Amino acid sequence: MKTKIILLGPPGCGKGTQAELLGDRLGLVRLSTGDMLREAVRKDTPLGKEAKKYMDAGALVPNDVIIGMMKEKIHDLGGAFLLDGFPRTVEQADALGKEVDVDVAINIDVEDEELVKRLTNRRSCPECNSVYHLANKQPKVVGICDKCGCQLYQRDDDTEKTVRNRLEVYRENTYPLIEYYRERGRLATVKGVGDIEYIYTQISEALK
Ligand code: AMP
Repeated sequence: MKTKIILLGPPGCGKGTQAELLGDRLGLVRLSTGDMLREAVRKDTPLGKEAKKYMDAGALVPNDVIIGMMKEKIHDLGGAFLLDGFPRTVEQADALGKEVDVDVAINIDVEDEELVKRLTNRRSCPECNSVYHLANKQPKVVGICDKCGCQLYQRDDDTEKTVRNRLEVYRENTYPLIEYYRERGRLATVKGVGDIEYIYTQISEALK
């Protein structure tokens, strides 16, 4: 099985949901740069203070900040990892490529209007980072995380205006990574619409 995995795709494509399933079921270490940054913001660390202004605007945190944050972590990962939200630029992909040889970049493909609908209806757990959706992935108890019992919240960057900006930022900076990994023979694309388990099965196939 392929064990050095990147999840690519626009915000709202289901990277977080699928990363959670893959991590739980295959025992892969999951690294989400978004989760790391949100934790830094919550703890009000120097990194969090720097990152917050970009995140609130739906912009990318500068490459040197992200690469600095990830470098040591990636170096320590060894043979198995699941990257969610990194790399997001060609510069980040080059930095990653210097440390490890990625087995597969999974591109989860979803149309823009569907992404806007999903993100504005998304609710997240501040504690364990699980994600829910008001229409199609509701928690068992309204407003409460199934996994850890915490109160769910709407991320500041999940409002419609910021979501549209994040999609533009994605198109300009991250979309070119699809070609980047295709050229290197490492790309697998799956359709990210429909049943969560069906999408999971398609991803599992791409890991064989
Ligand atoms: P996410 O949770 O992956 O949607 O990330 C939330 C926000 O964190 C993004 O909109 C960016 O502002 C920032 N961020 C996360 N990962 C990266 C990255 N690899 N490069 C730059 N900014 C990032």
